[in-house]
Amino acid sequence: MKSLNENFYSVVSLKSEELYKRFARHKMSYEMMLKNSFPLPDKDDPDKIVLSENVFSQAANQPTQICRCGKTLNVLEDNWYIDEGGCNYHLGKMIFTGPERGVYSCCKTCSRGCAFNEHHVISRRPFDSRNFRRPEDTKTEKNNQAANIFSIDCEMAFTTKGLEVVKVSLTSVGGDVIFDSYVQPNNDILDYNTAFSGVREENLRGVAITLREVQNRLLQLLNKNSILVGHGVENDLRALNIVHENVIDTSCVFPHERGSHLKHSLKYLAEVYLQKVIHDGFNGHDSVEDAQTCMELMLWKIYSETRSFKTNPMVIKTVSTGHSSNYVLMPQIPTELAPPPAFFIPSFAFINVTMVQPVIPFLVPTMSITSNFNPRMPQQQWWPRNM
Ligand SMILES: [Zn+2]
Ligand SMILES: [Zn+2]
Repeated sequence: MKSLNENFYSVVSLKSEELYKRFARHKMSYEMMLKNSFPLPDKDDPDKIVLSENVFSQAANQPTQICRCGKTLNVLEDNWYIDEGGCNYHLGKMIFTGPERGVYSCCKTCSRGCAFNEHHVISRRPFDSRNFRRPEDTKTEKNNQAANIFSIDCEMAFTTKGLEVVKVSLTSVGGDVIFDSYVQPNNDILDYNTAFSGVREENLRGVAITLREVQNRLLQLLNKNSILVGHGVENDLRALNIVHENVIDTSCVFPHERGSHLKHSLKYLAEVYLQKVIHDGFNGHDSVEDAQTCMELMLWKIYSETRSFKTNPMVIKTVSTGHSSNYVLMPQIPTELAPPPAFFIPSFAFINVTMVQPVIPFLVPTMSITSNFNPRMPQQQWWPRNM
């Protein structure tokens, strides 16, 4: 059997400016960002940062907060988190097994919490409009624009002030790690949230880098035109105290079938569209993997728009090759899609995204897309040559 490379049908050069344009079509509007509780510059007074008041943000500002164990806490009291009995809670979500009966996904029971932490916690994120910063309005060369597409993910831990960033990862469109750092939060940690954050006490031991320093680094790497991809990016930006309006959120690009009040998890989208398993069990997330997964979802999305999706659905498989990342497009029918039509055409395509020598402050990717189609089928070109 011939390899994909040997059997390639056509090679299409993908200029970075073209890729940037493709991504830019998925950017969130100001209204959509406001609705999703992103920190934004006020339309009348751009120096002022606003955060739309939704149920979440209103609840987060209340002095009375409910811990994940169900206990009501008055966070204005000193040492509100201390409890002799500690905090017994469930890591999983309630799954309803009948009209009024449910069990937790973590332990398949509905009894007392199966996980324990010494302190109670609150999941609000403090919002202080005075501390927000934003990337500057510097220009990017047109032939370097794909290097101005990034994916971001943060991991958070519970501190005495709520959820704070403890790890930040920024990856390139090719999947390379541009920035990856632990962060020492400003307040004392009550729970490392390891089951979700993947961050342990030993990871932060001796870490001196502060949120302010992370902001400085991110603001060196990003400019006003940088496209930032992520999943539920409002949480990352709010926790980072960064305002940015060029955002693509995979939770909005791949909307929930039952309305915008619901959002698919990144884990779910990765399984359906990329056939990739992430967040397996309660062993913690990996912010690099999550950032890369968001970018792979967007490459999948952009790929799917370039050809008749219904006649030829595809799934991206990631193949790690050290410094570069290869996205292999395989014929696959995501379970969420309509049944395949009778004239489903099997084919293969191969995207190779290779990163070359870094040029400060951005990496310059050279990209080529090699597609491989079934030779029995009429000639097809899945990416237009003259975009
Ligand atoms: Zn449980
Ligand atoms: Zn609790």
